[in-house]
Amino acid sequence: MRGWLESEVGRCLNRLVATRAPAELVVERLDFRAPGLSRRLNRLLSNMGRGFFEAKLKDLEERFGITCNKVIAAYSSQADSACGYVDKNNRTEQANFKCLWCGHRRHADVNSARNLIQRRSLGDTGTSRASRDALLGALVRQHVARYNRPRGRSADPRLSNPYFRSWTASVRSIEAYV
Ligand SMILES: [Zn+2]
Repeated sequence: MRGWLESEVGRCLNRLVATRAPAELVVERLDFRAPGLSRRLNRLLSNMGRGFFEAKLKDLEERFGITCNKVIAAYSSQADSACGYVDKNNRTEQANFKCLWCGHRRHADVNSARNLIQRRSLGDTGTSRASRDALLGALVRQHVARYNRPRGRSADPRLSNPYFRSWTASVRSIEAYV
């Protein structure tokens, strides 16, 4: 298994370099576990996989100067890479992503990958060592800064989204005075 894993990691990354010639790679902390395996085997697989992956990334940097950015993966399947709206209900099926704010549709994996790329511009909040809560806070702040007016009770999914609870509360308090 060791040999197979090492050659698969090498094969996939070599192919990426050969077909796309990237100057930079953006990666999340990868999960090498597989369903149906024991915890012990999964731990082995996970450590080994990460080890090979890291070694291969280093090799690509040394040989081709390809740099690598490690970003936090949290919420990358729930956020829309087009408008930035983050909602648990944006992804209703495994393969399909549909944004409840702007209606943007995309293959779920492509959407997640675009989110990861955008995390480079978040500074410390976007790195693989950042906290999930800090990241969510930043995503929510970005969205309400961009779209600060509520759309009306039934058309604004943020009003029933727990991630936007404090924004919703501030909207309600303003409404109470109007
Ligand atoms: Zn959207």
